[in-house]
Amino acid sequence: MSKLVIVGTVAFDAIETPFGKTDKILGGAATFIGLAASQFGVKGAIVSVVGGDFPQSYIDMLSSRGLDVSGLEIVKDGKTFFWSGKYHNDMNSRDTLATELNVLAEFDPVVPQSYRDSEVVMLGNLHPLIQLSVIEQMESPKLIVLDTMNFWMDNALDELLRVISKVDVITINDEEARQLTGEYSLVVAAQKIIQMGPSYVVIKKGEHGALLFHNNEIFFAPALPLEEVFDPTGAGDTFAGGFTGYLARTRDYSFENMKTAIINGSALASFCVEKFGTERLLDLSNDELYLRLQQFKSLTQFDIELT
Ligand code: AMP
Repeated sequence: MSKLVIVGTVAFDAIETPFGKTDKILGGAATFIGLAASQFGVKGAIVSVVGGDFPQSYIDMLSSRGLDVSGLEIVKDGKTFFWSGKYHNDMNSRDTLATELNVLAEFDPVVPQSYRDSEVVMLGNLHPLIQLSVIEQMESPKLIVLDTMNFWMDNALDELLRVISKVDVITINDEEARQLTGEYSLVVAAQKIIQMGPSYVVIKKGEHGALLFHNNEIFFAPALPLEEVFDPTGAGDTFAGGFTGYLARTRDYSFENMKTAIINGSALASFCVEKFGTERLLDLSNDELYLRLQQFKSLTQFDIELT
């Protein structure tokens, strides 16, 4: 098993969906990634920052899942990153109501010494300069995975392009892939992104699954059709956490193994959306994950005679 470094926000989120509304609850890209990756029993370290307003009980909870929090800086007189969003009725699109960077504005990440030799690095959604700094601190990672969003394309495009040129895998949603490349076709968009640096591109299509592009090959993983999607927040991060957690556990970074990693990421994401925030990930058992992986398998398996 390899070690995994996770950088991303650890946050307070306030979410509104057609099913209800929350006050500030635990959120953040690194939180979802860490909780998802911890399902695979990997040694993961969270590199992030929170303010003095962040409850110690949340930090203890992350440690209790086997996540190293020595790289989680606490700025006593600062406020934790806050994000608020409202989902439309289709649950596939949302409006961001607030993004308050707070302590994140001055964050200088420090990867714990004992994690600098990790093979896998998961750069969760954050300012690209912070992501770059984490890459620079690593000794010789075998796989660097980047997640980003339109917020950084709008606010720090040059820096984002620098990070993209240094990573092996990028995970991005369909609209963001179109924004980044100016291409409507996702196949052409993926080809253009591959020219920017990464040799693997994962395009997430929400309830329509995910596509993996590498050289001239494409793999498609569906999302599990669910009766009820309660809150999609964190689904993309959970997917990324499942993907990297699985790869760190198996230490096989081939295209073939990435297919299984994508199915694991999709299965975990399908749990994430069943309840608000991190709630469902926190009470998820290994047996439930195993059953859902079986459902994924039977969903896509078919015999066909080719004549
Ligand atoms: P997702 O639904 O996978 O896109 O991720 C939602 C999580 O990302 C929330 O828990 C937010 O706290 C966090 N988030 C939202 N906007 C940003 C941003 N601009 N930078 C970093 N993290 C963000």
